[in-house]
Parts: sequence; C-alpha cells; structure tokens
Amino acid sequence: MREIRRDEPSQNFNRNCPQSITLFEGGPDISTKITIVDYDHQFYYVLLKEELEPGRTYNFSLDFESYLDTDGTGFFRSSYIDEEGREIPVALTQFEANGARRAFPCFDEPSFKATFECHIAREESMSALSNMPLVETSPVEGQEGWLWDHFRATPSMSTYLVAFVVSDFASNVTETAEGLPYTAWCRNQEIKHSNYALDMGPEVLTFYAEYLRVPYLMPKMDIAAVVGFEGAMENWGMIIYEEDFMLFDPEVQTEADKQQVTKVISHETSHQWFGDLVTMGWWSHLWLNEGFAKYMEYLGANHVHPEWNMLDQFVVDVVQYALEVDSDETHSHPVIQNVSSTEDISTIIDDITYKKGGSLNRMMNHILTEQTFVEGINSYLMEYQYNNAYQDYLFEHLTIAGHEDGNLPQDMTMKQVMDSWTLQAGYPVVTVNRSEDGTSAIVSQKRFLFSNESTDEETWWVPLTYTSQDNPDFHHTQTMIWMTDEEREITIGSLPQKDQWVVFNIQETGFYRVNYDDNNWDLLLQQLETDPEAIHHLNRAQILDDYAHLSRAGYLSYSSAMDFFAYLRKEREYLPWASALNHLDYMELMLSDTAPNEPFKKFLLDLIVPLYEEFGFEVKDNMDQQEQFKQMLAIAWACDLGHENCIENARRLFNDWMESPDEVNSFISPNIRATVYCSAIAEGTVNEWNFAWNQYLRSSSQSEKHRILEALGCSRDAEVLLKFLISLAKNISEDLDEYASLLIGLSKQKVSENIAWRENNYDVILHWLQEHNYAPSLRNI
Ligand SMILES: [Zn+2]
Repeated sequence: MREIRRDEPSQNFNRNCPQSITLFEGGPDISTKITIVDYDHQFYYVLLKEELEPGRTYNFSLDFESYLDTDGTGFFRSSYIDEEGREIPVALTQFEANGARRAFPCFDEPSFKATFECHIAREESMSALSNMPLVETSPVEGQEGWLWDHFRATPSMSTYLVAFVVSDFASNVTETAEGLPYTAWCRNQEIKHSNYALDMGPEVLTFYAEYLRVPYLMPKMDIAAVVGFEGAMENWGMIIYEEDFMLFDPEVQTEADKQQVTKVISHETSHQWFGDLVTMGWWSHLWLNEGFAKYMEYLGANHVHPEWNMLDQFVVDVVQYALEVDSDETHSHPVIQNVSSTEDISTIIDDITYKKGGSLNRMMNHILTEQTFVEGINSYLMEYQYNNAYQDYLFEHLTIAGHEDGNLPQDMTMKQVMDSWTLQAGYPVVTVNRSEDGTSAIVSQKRFLFSNESTDEETWWVPLTYTSQDNPDFHHTQTMIWMTDEEREITIGSLPQKDQWVVFNIQETGFYRVNYDDNNWDLLLQQLETDPEAIHHLNRAQILDDYAHLSRAGYLSYSSAMDFFAYLRKEREYLPWASALNHLDYMELMLSDTAPNEPFKKFLLDLIVPLYEEFGFEVKDNMDQQEQFKQMLAIAWACDLGHENCIENARRLFNDWMESPDEVNSFISPNIRATVYCSAIAEGTVNEWNFAWNQYLRSSSQSEKHRILEALGCSRDAEVLLKFLISLAKNISEDLDEYASLLIGLSKQKVSENIAWRENNYDVILHWLQEHNYAPSLRNI
C-alpha cells in the first residue's frame, strides 16, 4: 500500500454483519444457541448447542448482507464523469488492513490464509474483475440483464489482499515475457494514457521474478486506475491505483510524475512477493511488506530506467527523509511496534515503517553485499511462500547466507545486529574525534534527537565504513569495522595525517549521521570549496544533510552550516542540491517574518542564479532526468525568490497561454508549468487568476487540475483568496484531494496562509470535511 492513512469508521461495521448462521456436519444442525457481536473490538461470538469434536470436518455457513458505502474502505462505491457528462458508478474494494470483514464474513487477520472463490453478479453493460481469471459467465435467474461472473479459486492468501472491481472500464492488454496476460483498465477517455504502465509493468514483474529467483505465481495481472481511489493497493493479481499513480500523459505530466508512476507501479508489483506470497504474521511486522516494497520500488524503477540513477536518488528521497522523521521524538517509534487493536494498525502506516524500513533493507544489502543479501531473501521467500513470516525468520535466512558466503563474521547474527535497529526507536550520531596528528580517532555513538536530549541509554550495532583524502575509495561499502551495541566508543587507527580529511559512512549506506572534530570539518569544507568532485556526490549530499541537521539540533553552529551551503555555487550535481534545498526550505520558513529574512533570500538567490542561468526556461529534448530536475528546482527557486528574469519569463509564457487558451501543451513544458502558473498568478492581477480558474474548470486531466488549484493559492490578493476559499467550500465536488492541493498551495504563501488562518477559512473547510465524515488528511506524495 502507498503510505496513506485510512480511518476505520466503526459504525459501518454495525451495518455489515451476519444475518443468520448455520453450522452443520451432514445431518444434525448444531447451530447457534446464542450469538454476541462485540462492535468495539469487531468480534462475532457464536456459542454452539453442542461441543465440537476434534478431528471432524464441519461446514460453517453465514448469510451476510453488506452495503456499498462511499468511504473508500471495504467493498465501496465510487464514480466518474464520462465524456457526455454522465456520472458512471464503479464498485471496488480496499481491504487493507481490515476491510474484508465489511464485504464478507471471514477470519480477517493476515495469518488466517485461505482460498477464495469469487462469484459476482453484475449488469450486462459492466465487467467484473478479481484476483483470479474468469472461468465462466452465466445468467442471473429471474433478473433480466444481469450476469454472474465465476472466478477461479485463489491460492492460499490473506483476506486483506482479496479484491474485486465492477465497472464499465475500457481495457488494454499485453503479455509478460512468460506469456501471462497483463491488462490495464480505466475509464475510456483515459485508456491511451495506460500505455506507459503497460510498457513498464510487465517488464518490472519479470525483473523481480528473475532478481528474486521466485516466479510470479498468479496466472494473470490486472491493473486498474480508479477515480476516487486513494493511493494504490497491491491485491494479488489485481492491483488498484488512483489515476495519477498509474496513468501517464506526457503532454500534461512532468518528468517527476513519470518517475512517480514508475515507482508506484514498481512498489505494488514488488508486493506480489513481499506481502502477497509471503505475508507478515501480524501487522506489527508490517515493515516486512512495506520496507521491502519501498526498497524494491527503486530497484524496479532502476531496472526500467537505469539512466535515472534511482539507487542514488533513494538516499535523498528515502534515507535522509527517514533520518529526519526519526530525529523527532513525537514521530519516532520502533519499526516493530505493538499493534493490538484494529485502530492501532493505521498508526504504523507511516514513514518509519516505509522509509526507515526501506533504508534498513539497503543497509543490510551493503552489510552483506548484494549477492549474499539476495541469496538470503530468496531462501526466505522459498521457505515461507503461501505462508506468513516474522522478522526473525528473515534475519535467520540472511545470517545463514552471510555465514556461507563469509560476508558476516561467524560469531555474529543478523538478528543481533538488526534488533538494535528495529526494536528500538531512533538511530545514532557517530562522532569521529581524530587525534592530534590525525592518524587515529575515537569513534563514539549516541542517539540523535533534534532536542539534543539523548539519555545515552540506547546503542546500536553500527556498520562503519570510511575513506580518506590520501587514498579515496567511495565504492567499498561493505562494513569495515563493527561498533557493537556494547561499545559507546572505540578507537580506530591507520588514518592519514591531520591535513588529510576522512569521510565516514560511504554513500550513506548506514542509517546514521556522522559528526567530526572541527579540523576534519574544515578539511572537508576546503575540499568542497576547491574541488567538490573529489568526494562522491552521495557523500556531498550526506555532508550537507548531516551538517544542517547537527546544526538544527545544536551540535554545530548555523554559521558554519552556511559556509557549507555557500559551496553550492560550485555544485553541478542534482542530489547535493536536492538535499541542501530540503533544508534551506526549512530555514526559509523558520526565518520568515524575522529580521534576517531578506538577507537570507539574497543569499539563496546568489546560490541559485548560476544554476538558473545554466538552464533558463529552455526545455531541450536531450536533457537527462537529473538535468530536468535541476532545471525544475532552479526555476522554482529563482521565481519564488523574485528573480526578475525568471518572473518575466513566467509571465510571458502565461500571457501566451491566455491568448491561446487551448494551446498550453505547445507553449509550456509540463516540467515548468507549476512555477509558471504560480509566478504569473502571484505577480499578476485578478485577470490571471480568473483565467486559471476557468482553465481549472475546463480541464479533464487530474494532474493539470491539481497543478492549477495549487497555483490559484499563490495569489497575493487577499480578497481574491478569501472569495476563492468560500466558493470552493460551498461549490466544489467532494474530492478531498482538491482541497489538499489548495492547502498545499496556500501553505507556500505566508500572506495567504495568514489570511486563511485569520479569517477562519480553515474552519470552514474542516467543518465541511467533518460533515462528509472524512478525517482531514493531505495527499501523501
Ligand atoms: Zn506498499
């Protein structure tokens, strides 16, 4: 599943419950004496007339009635508007984590695996899909115009992965390399945009089967894009996506959108093994699903687009993001967390489970080496296929592989190492204090927290790697020295003389931060200022990220952090920039409404202008993805910081569009549209705003609608914004995503943010959301 939260409206459980029960074995009916429904804990108790005898087979049958709600859980109803403006219904499922019980009676926990035979009655004009292929269709007796679809029984699987979709969707079919049918489904007017998914989906499915050396074990794959579905769900053989996560329209969507679609499809596809074939025994071990899917998502995307450099992007997108979340006591928690009630499940669908989980998989890969890691994963999947597993099972298989290959010391186990990372919250900052002559260092560990109030109790098994200026090697990422959980500090020798730098945590493969003594930091700064390329680009991103966060937590000073940021004028690689701008964005927010605000903006502009001048607004066909991303960053920042030439260009492009409203695709490249819209509306008058609003109403593309809505919030005209918020709250559709886009846009603007809050419009929106029985949640992208 993608990381989105779902709240379980327990009142719906009352509506969907068994009506009558029979339990029999051949002759006598020994059904219920009494039944009790515990609505709070979602249990249904049946007290029998007689005791059951062990060893005999009983049949248990329930009449069950359930209703299609519209809340996105269980078997629910959605709809879309077709080309003629008619509202067309779609019925579909979202069972993770505990929605299956709302569609049919079942033991609705992941370890109760069973086979499922689905029979779905539908109107002739619709079609039904499920996990398995259709066997036959027959008329529904006594109901003219209705048909039964009978599906083949599934293999043994968990309830939360059962799925069905009833719709009038168009389809587009291809085959995997193994000859299995792979079909994309969506509303007719979007079907041409499923071509990209249909190209890369089967390729990534075959890649995983080969990489893991475990075949894809279902007889087909269906993928469906559904308006009104939130996120994506990896149902076995029947993946469901929200449209933006499966469909790709190169005329409207950006290079970042394309990467997003690639990652989400790779993510859900990898779940066919991690989650569907081998399932966590209980929700507390969810990271075995999601940590793997997050990691495999980048491997899959890297296979389809090796030129995108996805494995390196993982460091900034996932590792550094997880490190930040895990630094904050209010968000940090152990990867393995007790989940005792159904309500608790939603609390672990978060960045710790997904992104820290994914980072730990990458760390294990580098501890053991790729080959040994895959060897361990393969034997783990083979042993527990069609079954359930806990993290200890995984660690056992990795340990055996590590010992066999000699890549894990015989006196160590992966459980020993990894328990320290999964059973306790947080991670360490490793401090390297070099001796007077530089040739040795005391290396210590301590939990890193923004509050800088670590109690010193926690320790980890830290895989240390390092290299130095006299003999730089940024490719050897296997553990060089272990710091055990019993060692708060160790001494390392054989380092270079004091005028040569050292860098620890090569390519940031370990899930920890590094701090150095002042002298080593100075040497690193000099290197970055003179010849940054001498340090691997991932370690440049790491140095910036660690320095900034160590400053935020008070270990180091912000004035030196600024020195480090200043070297960016020389930086030409995307990832160090992306890493730095994440933090500069945070600083800009913190500094707003303060005295240093304006000078800080000048500083930022000074950094960004060389990058802006390198690319400008010209979109060239031969730009690789990293160049496109750099251009997007440079333009977004330059315009936001008020760079004259940038704003002029944005307004010129927007004016061209206003003169030919149907020609946006030929005027403005999708990559730069968000910035062009936002800048033109921010700097423009009510005319620009009204034009964009009309375009928003006219557009049928979900991506374009979100983009325009975000830009509408860029206006600096308080009156316009206020009218906008009120009319939106009153008139617009029930799509929560649209509010989310608006709020994201507003939050970018201090002036509009103030207006929104001062005038209590936020309350208007909140009230609306409550009335519609939604919890306020933002799109989690
Ligand atoms: Zn997932």
